[in-house]
Amino acid sequence: MCHNIQDGRYHTVCGHFIAMSTRMQDCMRPDCLFSQRHAHPTGCKSASCQRLMTVPQRNPIRISETKCADCLMRERESGGLHMSRPLIT
Ligand SMILES: [Zn+2]
Ligand SMILES: [Zn+2]
Ligand SMILES: [Zn+2]
Repeated sequence: MCHNIQDGRYHTVCGHFIAMSTRMQDCMRPDCLFSQRHAHPTGCKSASCQRLMTVPQRNPIRISETKCADCLMRERESGGLHMSRPLIT
């Protein structure tokens, strides 16, 4: 089955993966709706053809030893004004 490969940045501190670009890996099967080799390019009515893509594969092309932008923003929103409150992680 075809699947998407997401190139992106992996943030080791928070464990988040930020996708930068997505490309499709073609399985080259004639019974797959997403493949270029699909036997019925228009109006596929075959019940045996694959209609679902598998979950995207993550391909970390960059590793950042920092938090991602989302986490930094969240940190700034929760912290800052409430300096006396202990940080729950
Ligand atoms: Zn496929
Ligand atoms: Zn088909
Ligand atoms: Zn994060």
